[in-house]
Amino acid sequence: MLENIRVVLVNTSHPGNIGGAARAMKNMGLSRLVLVDPQDFPSGEAVARASGATDILDAAQVVGTLEEALVGCSLVLGTSARDRRIPWPLLDPRECGVAACEQAQQAGEVALVFGREYAGLTNEELQRCHFHVHIPSEPEFSSLNLAAAVQVLAYEVRMAWLALQNQPTKTLKLETTAIQSSQPVTADELESFYAHLELALVEIGFLDPAKPRHLMSRLRRLYGRSAVSKLEMNILRGILTETVKAARGEHHGQGKADV
Ligand code: SAH
Repeated sequence: MLENIRVVLVNTSHPGNIGGAARAMKNMGLSRLVLVDPQDFPSGEAVARASGATDILDAAQVVGTLEEALVGCSLVLGTSARDRRIPWPLLDPRECGVAACEQAQQAGEVALVFGREYAGLTNEELQRCHFHVHIPSEPEFSSLNLAAAVQVLAYEVRMAWLALQNQPTKTLKLETTAIQSSQPVTADELESFYAHLELALVEIGFLDPAKPRHLMSRLRRLYGRSAVSKLEMNILRGILTETVKAARGEHHGQGKADV
């Protein structure tokens, strides 16, 4: 489906930006690059900046006009760093990602069009686009590097695509010590921990039993909101045991951490 989405770079002057765009595309699963009248391509600089995405550069289609680049497209999205005088239907990058994916899913061909480093897209070129997309940057410094702009939109396309596929955008990893270690501690285990903690704090002279103030209740509040696991509780108990031993001048180091 992502192969229905092409990235079109118009009249790019720096080959490094072409390489950077190719890398950004490959990172996000896009593969079709179309170059309209590039000023310096192919180029070693593009290969260097592509850092491994050379397959995208090798397969890049080079054409003379934007019109040729847009052949077959049913949705054309043109990017612009500034507000233009002619009002045009606008999408933000998130909406652009969704629109591109929905169109591509229905087997429509989509183009994301990017302009020149120094002058962007001309009004004529922008009028060939169904929607304009503006990355909501700081108005006083609104123009992103070309490859960075490609990265932002490619990322939004990927997020929309993952959502359409019901694929997760993050992976939860359990600790290697397996499920048991991530089990939450029970109320009774917490109670014996608090007793142990209190004893240790008295032992090291941090808690004065004659003047306990609110120390224990504050510590209860702290641990209570920490969602301590069984494994973590074992670590805490081990630390307390060794602390008490050390305070009593006993030989310590017996219960070395085994985590
Ligand atoms: N001086 C040009 C800047 C072009 S930056 C101008 O004012 O138009 C090169 C290209 O990067 C732009 O044509 C556009 O495709 C993309 N780009 C840069 N910043 C952008 C932004 N904030 N929103 C959308 N596209 C942007």
